[in-house]
Amino acid sequence: EKLVADKWESEEHLNHKIIDMVNTDNLRNNLMELAKFPHLAGTERDHQLAHLIHNRFMKAGFDTADLVSYDVLLSRPNRTNPNLITLEDEQGQVIFTSAYQEKSLQKDDSDPEFIHAFNAYTPAGDVRTEAGRGVVYVNYARVEDFDKLEELNVNVSGCIVIARYGKIFRGNKLVHAQERGAKGMILFSDPNDVALEGVEAQDVYPNSWWLPGSGMQRGTTYMGDGDPLTPGWPSTAQAYRLKIEDADLPKIPCQPIGYDDARVILEKIGGTPAPGDDWKGGLTGVAYNLGPELQDRYSNYTLRLNTHNVLQVHRSYNVIGIIKGEVEPDRYVIVGNHRDAWGYGASDPSSGTAQMLETARVLGQLISSTGWRPRRTLVFCSWGAEEYGLIGSTEWVEEHVDKLKERAVMYLNTDTCASGPIIHVPGSPLLWDPVTAVMKMVPGVRDGATVYDEWKAYQISQNVTTLKMKTLGSGSDYAPFSFYCGIPCVDMWFRRDKNKNDISIYPSYHTGYETFYMVDKNVDPGFRIHQGCGRIASLLLKYFADSLIIPYSLQHLPEAMKDALDTFKKSGTRDKIIRIYEKYTLLEESLTNFTDAAATFERELEEKRTKNLDPVTIRAINDQMMKLERVFILPAGLPGRPDIRHAVFAPSQFDNYATSGFPGISDLLHNIEELNETERLKKEEEIKRHISDLTIMVQRAVSLLKDFH
Ligand code: GLU
Ligand code: CA
Ligand code: ZN
Ligand code: ZN
Repeated sequence: EKLVADKWESEEHLNHKIIDMVNTDNLRNNLMELAKFPHLAGTERDHQLAHLIHNRFMKAGFDTADLVSYDVLLSRPNRTNPNLITLEDEQGQVIFTSAYQEKSLQKDDSDPEFIHAFNAYTPAGDVRTEAGRGVVYVNYARVEDFDKLEELNVNVSGCIVIARYGKIFRGNKLVHAQERGAKGMILFSDPNDVALEGVEAQDVYPNSWWLPGSGMQRGTTYMGDGDPLTPGWPSTAQAYRLKIEDADLPKIPCQPIGYDDARVILEKIGGTPAPGDDWKGGLTGVAYNLGPELQDRYSNYTLRLNTHNVLQVHRSYNVIGIIKGEVEPDRYVIVGNHRDAWGYGASDPSSGTAQMLETARVLGQLISSTGWRPRRTLVFCSWGAEEYGLIGSTEWVEEHVDKLKERAVMYLNTDTCASGPIIHVPGSPLLWDPVTAVMKMVPGVRDGATVYDEWKAYQISQNVTTLKMKTLGSGSDYAPFSFYCGIPCVDMWFRRDKNKNDISIYPSYHTGYETFYMVDKNVDPGFRIHQGCGRIASLLLKYFADSLIIPYSLQHLPEAMKDALDTFKKSGTRDKIIRIYEKYTLLEESLTNFTDAAATFERELEEKRTKNLDPVTIRAINDQMMKLERVFILPAGLPGRPDIRHAVFAPSQFDNYATSGFPGISDLLHNIEELNETERLKKEEEIKRHISDLTIMVQRAVSLLKDFH
């Protein structure tokens, strides 16, 4: 009887219980504890928190919980020899030195252990400009910014470049600068991105959520995922490790600064004027000239960037907690959140950790108080060393790749759960409907009746015409599940309101001011946003763990793939492709077949559901659907990107945070016109082959949904 019972439907009353149980006081207390001290990856506090989480899982009544360790290459600044940016005059007199720590503005934010500002994995280096020239302001350091500089004949080769944070992943900024020959990079937070209501004390933290002038965004610049010494393989005791010099790490020094220090440098740059308002930031009195010359009166000044970062192997822990499934213990519904933070981490990631601990408590209590047990196994994961490059999650996935590919039903990621009031849930199209269904069940965190109502109202306010969820870019721990294994993933956030401020990320992100005080006073007073996170997470996990038929929305997959092809149509890319490979139309046709096959499958499933299904049939149907996205995993990875194996949705090559549909096509077409004849023909062959591969994969998906007859 248990084998064929739909617990999600028959035990529906438990869902209301869950909604009632998720408690704001618990969430607040969790966050207070988690964000009390800095908990950088590989430190003692990080390890202590791993134990705290382990204890909470056991206390919640989990069947097992384990600390799993990996020895991985991390990067840190040198505490006794801080990274410095200086301006020196012709006598070598230092007339300016950058700060490497935030100013203490409030009693909770001056822990002596707080890591100095640095960009992880950038090398130690000492570079300086010539007197009076050699600094270029490169805006956000996007591809289009460097194109513009080239058009204006501003050459960055041999220069130190200075870029503002925002718009794209910082690692891509550094790659772009390095590829163009820059010898060093400075990243700064501009008031236009982090302090929109003024830069005076009353305008910024602790009096608001805006960033003060000494706030510096730390962050990794590593472009791979996982331990840089073990790409593709887990960093276990027996693993082969690359030599450090063979790891694919950044080659030029790079250092973040706040806008107070950025001003001192930017105001001295002369040369070519800013080409438009979109190059000008919010520092009053600064022209945002491009350089490379300094202004005449500083013609004897040199700019020096001197960093002392060190690479070292540290032990990093994941905590894996299990609630064993009753009927299908070998099917996994997974939730994960990273534990490590650059500092106090009150939003990133501890808002998500606070949620995960409460979710664990609530589901545990459901077991002890009602006798409930999920049909499938729930796996709770607290990841280590995410901030360095998704290390804990990637190593674990690399260790268990076969089991996960065979058995994982879905992965829910919650990183920065609460940094603002707006729900944002990008994910696999297969999860769009179930996520929507859960959002409709959860009370709104502001004025809406449900989170779904709030989501919908926000989409409309943003002039979104078709209500749809988004596919995933990278930047958090779902990446190895999605892009390496093809497991349907969803990433849950509540974040900034773009109608109020169209900024890339909340202002205190990765700085010394991302404190409990900040969240408690300025982000989520009352903890209703955290409560929304906990409710959605608990219900979504239960939905996937308890439904007899796994509630994937099959038809959204071909639909989202069609959307991606439509983008090619609109941008003129389709014409370009057709000129290279007429048979591209076969890919389009195969998608029509896939759409039909998904529709037929779902229709037949609705019919079957009305009959009494036997356990073997149920299992077979579920497996067919569970494996659907796996079909799109390319064993050898995307052309030129072996670690990214998802052929349909993957991070963009030029912004790790952005999503790209059919990324291989865009990658191969990039700059093809600029290649010489031989190279171009070679690229064209690669394009033909890749499109052919894609077409075959889509047909394989069609085949998976059908029986042989
Ligand atoms: N979430 C971290 C960041 O944005 C790491 C991202 C990554 O390595 O992909 O800095
Ligand atoms: Ca690895
Ligand atoms: Zn994070
Ligand atoms: Zn982060």
